[in-house]
Amino acid sequence: MPLKPPPLRNDCFALPPGVDWTPVDAALSMLRQRLSPVVAREDVPLGDGVGRVLADDIVARRSNPPEANTAVDGYGFAAGAVGEGDVVLPLVEGRSAAGAPFSGRVPGGAAVRVLTGAALPEGVDTVVLDEDCAVGEGEVAFRGPVKRGANTRKVGEDVAEGVTALSAGRVLTPADLALAAAVGHGALPVFSRLRVGVLSTGDEVVEPGRTAAPGQIFDANRPMLLSMAARFGYEAIDLGHVRDDRNALRARLDGAVGAVDAILTSGGASAGDEDHVSALLRETGALAEWRIALKPGRPLALGMWQGVPVFGLPGNPVAAFVCMLVFARPAMGLLAGAGWQAPVGFDVPAAFTKRKKPGRREYLRARIREGRAEVFASEGSGRVSGLSWAEGLVELEDGGRDIEPGDLVRFIPYGSFGL
Ligand code: AMP
Ligand code: MG
Repeated sequence: MPLKPPPLRNDCFALPPGVDWTPVDAALSMLRQRLSPVVAREDVPLGDGVGRVLADDIVARRSNPPEANTAVDGYGFAAGAVGEGDVVLPLVEGRSAAGAPFSGRVPGGAAVRVLTGAALPEGVDTVVLDEDCAVGEGEVAFRGPVKRGANTRKVGEDVAEGVTALSAGRVLTPADLALAAAVGHGALPVFSRLRVGVLSTGDEVVEPGRTAAPGQIFDANRPMLLSMAARFGYEAIDLGHVRDDRNALRARLDGAVGAVDAILTSGGASAGDEDHVSALLRETGALAEWRIALKPGRPLALGMWQGVPVFGLPGNPVAAFVCMLVFARPAMGLLAGAGWQAPVGFDVPAAFTKRKKPGRREYLRARIREGRAEVFASEGSGRVSGLSWAEGLVELEDGGRDIEPGDLVRFIPYGSFGL
């Protein structure tokens, strides 16, 4: 009889038996408990604040709006002096414009010209819109009743002086800068940027664009991880590439200490002969091999190198990408002072069919088309093209599931991860 390979086992893609696989949520809550900020604080001009992490609460120094004002161009008066039906009021001399308020008092039963943003003069609590008025010589006519306070903005109706406008730990957005400016701040207390070193490992890995011999592959992870760190608002520091050589790796890590606050490596993180990242971290006694029930993902080696946290990401680009988003990003957020950053996902109908096994969380490369989540044709974790094709991830919870088109699945856009 000709020799045949053994038949494929039904469980060939199942998780190894007898191993304690940590669920993703348990792994995340451990990170959440154990990590804290490692960054200093500094003040930056307001205009430089975007993407930075706020180090203290921002308290409103001034109300917004700082005084009652008019929301429209029109005529202001005291509502109490106006009844129902047609109203004709005498106009006082002058007007109130934004930045050039009317100085006097408007007597009850009279009206004054007001322009959008102008402070309401004394005696005015209500404004009628230009379009609802007829204006004659020294008087204005409109139809009552007009609700007291119409077309005006109250002092502090947006933000009252003394309240916390922005909380420490917030990653500042352009809208936050507008808010901080509106309530009187010209500079902001922020944490210094987290410095994130990125290192690639592997004898087969060569610099993109160089000539590659057979058996070699271009370093796809380093440009990806560096730019992800930069998108998260961190200072991304290129630690280059090292071969599968423990001494070279040791020297490179030693050289990074002092220049970085965290290190991301890719490759060499499992338990194989050439897996020097995990071996080296184990030597120092500071390795934790995280066997996380996650696809794509395993293995993830977490350790400390002379006080610097090292995230040993998998070598496969897809797994490195997913582990970066799911684990390294929230972990680095804590180191950076930003608190816990959970991505926001949306339940959308699936455009695909999938039978998912229980026992691990899965992330599929996905994008939304016509309101439905499409997933990339292959789940292979070397398929870099799928990462680029996708616009987010579909997150499938740890339990088993048979997904049919139209079933709701959780889609997390790349943007929700800060990309
Ligand atoms: P490793 O985790 O070192 O066993 O690597 C797993 C797979 O990822 C192998 O196929 C490696 O060739 C590949 N890989 C490792 N590092 C990189 C990298 N920087 N860019 C692209 N692929 C990589
Ligand atoms: Mg390797």
